[in-house]
Amino acid sequence: MDLASARRAAVAAATSWTTPPLNRADGTSISPQIAKHFASDVFSHRTMRHRLSKDVFKRLMRTIELAEPLDPLVADIVAAEMKDWAIENGATHYTHWFQPLTGLTAEKHDSLAELGKDGEMIYALSGSSLCQSEPDASSFPSGGLRATFEARGYTAWDATSPAFLVRGHNTVTLCIPTAFVSWTGAALDQKTPLLRSMDALSKQALRILRIFGTDKGVRRVLTTVGPEQEYFLIDRHLYYTRPDLVSCDRTLFGTRPPKGQQLEDHYFGSIPPRVLAFMAELEYELYRMGVPVKTRHNEVAPGQFEIAPTFETSNVACDHQMLMMETIKRVAPRYGLSAILHEKPFSGINGSGKHNNWSMSTDTGVNLLDPREETHTNMEFLAFLCAVIRAVDVHADLLRASVASASNDHRLGANEAPPAIISIFLGDMLTDIVGQLEKGELSRTLKGGAMDLGAATLPHLPRDSGDRNRTSPFAFTGNKFEFRAVGSSATSAWPNTVMNTIVAESLDELATQLEVAVGPNPSPEKLMTAVRGVLQKTIREHKRVIFNGDGYSAEWHAEAERRGLPHLRDSVAAIPRFGSDGAVRLFEKYQVLNRQELESRVTTYLERYCKQILIESETMVMMGRQMILPAAVAQESRLAQAVAALKNAGADHKERLAMLEEFMERVRRFTTTLEGLAEADNFESHDPGEHAKYLRDKIIPLMLVLRAAGDDLENHVSADLWPLPSYREILYLK
Ligand code: ADP
Ligand code: MG
Repeated sequence: MDLASARRAAVAAATSWTTPPLNRADGTSISPQIAKHFASDVFSHRTMRHRLSKDVFKRLMRTIELAEPLDPLVADIVAAEMKDWAIENGATHYTHWFQPLTGLTAEKHDSLAELGKDGEMIYALSGSSLCQSEPDASSFPSGGLRATFEARGYTAWDATSPAFLVRGHNTVTLCIPTAFVSWTGAALDQKTPLLRSMDALSKQALRILRIFGTDKGVRRVLTTVGPEQEYFLIDRHLYYTRPDLVSCDRTLFGTRPPKGQQLEDHYFGSIPPRVLAFMAELEYELYRMGVPVKTRHNEVAPGQFEIAPTFETSNVACDHQMLMMETIKRVAPRYGLSAILHEKPFSGINGSGKHNNWSMSTDTGVNLLDPREETHTNMEFLAFLCAVIRAVDVHADLLRASVASASNDHRLGANEAPPAIISIFLGDMLTDIVGQLEKGELSRTLKGGAMDLGAATLPHLPRDSGDRNRTSPFAFTGNKFEFRAVGSSATSAWPNTVMNTIVAESLDELATQLEVAVGPNPSPEKLMTAVRGVLQKTIREHKRVIFNGDGYSAEWHAEAERRGLPHLRDSVAAIPRFGSDGAVRLFEKYQVLNRQELESRVTTYLERYCKQILIESETMVMMGRQMILPAAVAQESRLAQAVAALKNAGADHKERLAMLEEFMERVRRFTTTLEGLAEADNFESHDPGEHAKYLRDKIIPLMLVLRAAGDDLENHVSADLWPLPSYREILYLK
């Protein structure tokens, strides 16, 4: 079958797909009461309390909640219980589940069955196997932290993130969340620095609470995260006929269909039945594994959707976020769908992000970013708020760099996603209070009041004190900040590590100033005056980062430059910021990452950038030569035949000939660029920074020209010859 016929067969298959009945062939069904199954595949605290003796449970919880070292005896008991629980639930294997710097998760399965002394198979899991394992680490990126000849890497049990079961066809696997470090102790993963950054923030936040005398009974301050995940779903048949989607998770060619998202008819529209069936199963699976998913809806672009969980502590939320991305990918094929997590799979159509909702709360459950009723009197809230404002201003470059990737470059700064300039949206109420604070007098909190909807049967609604802003990369949204620049395919752990670290530093700075200003045993008046003074100074120094206007506008770009805010346009400019002296000082001071660990991340992320661009450009060349050119040549001969036929018949063939020549010119343009790109690809450099610059400055522009030439051909080649399913075919199938 030729490619064009394959495309037509794929479209036919895609349109004939129907949603499977709820009771699937393998006997599983989606229970109408999914809540009953919540966390049934999690070795949760509740399960542990049931199964462990009081003493063992208490000692384990001290490790989990207070970071006390774990007694090996306790580990043995927990391991045995975890194994029994897993086997009772059908597990045969266990794995240390970790997050290397690939941006994915990794697992190596070992059987829970072992050969016993008398030659019989027994089930076993020792405390040491639970706590530590040694995968062959040589093939994971380490950015120079480890040469391949010293390949040792260890995974270490993270008791703060509960173990869970992953069910597949014929398999149930016990997954134990772990950190991944080299034998020198250097962090080779995303989890280790995140945990360290949470410790750092907790320590500094407690100092602030102590100053306000609100630390009673508080043992830890936790950071909380609720990531909203956007993704595309397309029919699987069509996905596999496009090498660009298969290799790069995005289309490298493709013209925009006449109907894009102009009508805004998809956003929050009714969810197509097949997609809804997929969502139900996805949610069911996530529920079983303890991921508290809450929200589902259509997103802005055709074929685009969103899923959001209820927030949890950063570490668990980030693990769950990885699990969510994997489960989306895993469940989609059961409904004949492929899920795309790339930030910009389709040109000219909205891309996908992952809004990272972030806050701080005490372990007693007080949200420290909750402004409460009379916000202008809530000095503790204002202190935490000012700490965040200062952090984002001082380290805007690092926050920007934390979301940098080749794929997110397509999104940031385009007119649909937050700009690459980091600023903070506070909204009317807080902007007003911050203005008062700057002047040194706090007297009022703006209120939204109530809204009368004009119809007697409709309720009166409380009005928020300000409107929303969609264009800000970092927005205060009621009782949390929403960092919107995170890419849809990214791990949440890294931006949150950076977030926690920069805020830890600001809390440290504020606490130090406040401790001096307040002095020992202050009267309430003295405390308030001292706090007001310190916060006033903080606002004066850092208010430039606050911006409530339209972040997409050209005026803002000019204004931001005038204010001296950094504008790191792409990953190549942003990623090296982690190697700067300022970054090293910051991360070393709070013991989140040392210089070597930071530099390894710069190297790894730049290398990943290079690899992604190279794969894309090579895929383009391949598709150009093997798919697009042959179709163009077929079109050419069709036109040539038409010219010859007219000529033979003695008819006027001038117009056809002009058409042929014009078309040949299009093909020539395409071929020249194609060969230019193929040639330019041969650049070699051992310095990933150099290489990345070359790819950004030379290869990406050529790719853009080639794409335009290819899309031009798509518009002029007969639909029955074109080998790739079009955007129209891909995006509108329900
Ligand atoms: P939006 O209106 O921006 O779509 P939602 O109100 O649906 O947002 O909530 C977005 C996310 O914010 C949810 O995942 C929610 O759990 C999370 N969230 C709410 N409060 C907090 C908090 N204190 N810390 C972190 N995330 C939070
Ligand atoms: Mg949101």
